[in-house]
Amino acid sequence: MIFETHAHYDDEKFDADRVELLSHLLRENNIGNIVNVGATFKGCKESLALAEAYNDVYAAIGIHPEEIDEINEDVIDWLRKNASNPKVVAIGEIGLDYYWVKEEDQREEQRLWFERQMDLAEEVNLPVIIHSRDAAEDTLNTIRKYNNRHVKGIVHCYSYSKEIALEYVKMGWYIGVGGVVTFKNAKKLVETVEAIPLEAIVLETDCPYMAPVPHRGERNSSIFLSHVAEKIAEIKGVSVEEVEKVTYQNALTIYDKANKR
Ligand SMILES: [Zn+2]
Repeated sequence: MIFETHAHYDDEKFDADRVELLSHLLRENNIGNIVNVGATFKGCKESLALAEAYNDVYAAIGIHPEEIDEINEDVIDWLRKNASNPKVVAIGEIGLDYYWVKEEDQREEQRLWFERQMDLAEEVNLPVIIHSRDAAEDTLNTIRKYNNRHVKGIVHCYSYSKEIALEYVKMGWYIGVGGVVTFKNAKKLVETVEAIPLEAIVLETDCPYMAPVPHRGERNSSIFLSHVAEKIAEIKGVSVEEVEKVTYQNALTIYDKANKR
């Protein structure tokens, strides 16, 4: 069975078949637990509602770096209050995304709310899910600081070098690997998967985005994670069953509230 560590089933692209997928179709296709990740404030509320409606679904709550226009201390209070919900397993997705943001003051604003939410994760004793794009150095520096304060987590949709990945692994962090690993131009991510131990990898879709080959460009769902597991098995020279088993255990270790339930 596969642990889906990062999905967005609240997305409108699932309006037609969300109930079918979450009530039985995913389970029938070898998917066990699912973490639905909030990115906007609305997405956080919807993640929580899905986690409350379906036994296998858990929620992560946090505000994405591209959505920080909507964050304020009231939102932080809401996150704090709901972090104690037994089905909330992480704060996320939070982080830094410099891709569209060139102005230093806007990047500073992202760093401020990233750290504010890392402080919250430390306070409520939850792991974090990190979104990071074009911000390798600032992300690693922030995570180092909080790692010293015992905050752990997953670097989701990992896109940096294998050297940086090994820095995270050394700290006991996890690397989220999804559909990109199956793409023809995924050389960097394939090298990363080669370099890090299976014990540091978790499987994720980021669905409805990032569908793996042979479904590239289609709407993604957790069902397609089988292709990601197969690719990782091929790279590591182990069986698909081994990849599923080890990454499942990894996910339960980092999302330990799902483990205790
Ligand atoms: Zn995401």
